[in-house]
Amino acid sequence: MKLLEGKNVIITGASRGIGTGIAQVFADHGANVAFTYSSSEAPALALEEELKNKGVTAKAYKSNAASFSESEALVAKVLEDFGGIDVLINNAGITKDNLLMRMAEEDFDKVIEINLKSVFNMTKAVQRTMLKQRNGSIINMSSVVGVKGNAGQANYAASKAGMIGFTKSIALELGSRNIRCNAIAPGFIETEMTAKLDEKVVQGWRDGIPLKRGGAPEDIANACLFFASDLSGYVTGQVLNVDGGMLT
Ligand code: NAP
Repeated sequence: MKLLEGKNVIITGASRGIGTGIAQVFADHGANVAFTYSSSEAPALALEEELKNKGVTAKAYKSNAASFSESEALVAKVLEDFGGIDVLINNAGITKDNLLMRMAEEDFDKVIEINLKSVFNMTKAVQRTMLKQRNGSIINMSSVVGVKGNAGQANYAASKAGMIGFTKSIALELGSRNIRCNAIAPGFIETEMTAKLDEKVVQGWRDGIPLKRGGAPEDIANACLFFASDLSGYVTGQVLNVDGGMLT
């Protein structure tokens, strides 16, 4: 059964990792997929082709999620190209890890701008369309680190915790118009973001996860499928940990 037949979706940061996994699973479920990247043009164009071959409309857009004006222009272009937006997934994110003692101001600001300000930019840009439709689902990619904190990631954890507060506030603001807003808190997912970590540290994490493995982008994509589709029609303002039991 296809759960998103004919739905129009925007995903930020889908040129690799979790975003690519979401785009693939959503296209398999019949969604038309608009997605962004910041610099990885070749993989983005390859993904666009791959999605089109699944029989849906798909388009890659170069757009910096941290920029308010670029986000507004992106949404206007997607509305022109796709005719509507039913689902927004705020997925773009970066890390700039360091202990507070060594964390530069610009590394704090950059992480907050790309991970958190982007959520404001994109949600504000799609809000009018969703209000008019009286329908919409917004999904924010937080992290278990935003729930429990992590030494060496104060900037990242603050951005991800901020996304949770934003999610709950928007769920309260827009619920009466049938617009839902939920967050996903992935645990350790094996992508380029985590590939740069020390393998010994990573193995230690895997051993500590009740399901004894890191997650795959598809694990997160399946949770997004639930929040994007009518299966979660009575669910809003929630944070779903998808972490193999890490936070249990
Ligand atoms: P990733 O492999 O590093 O991919 C990040 C994606 O974001 C890329 O497509 C990148 O595009 C895009 N991006 C970066 N800066 C951007 C900007 N300013 N504007 C638009 N797009 C931008 O990361 P991932 O592991 O898939 O993570 C995806 C999301 O899940 C992030 O929000 C991350 O914090 C969250 N998360 C990941 C894990 C994990 O274990 N992997 C755990 C918890 C939460 P370019 O390739 O063009 O730079």
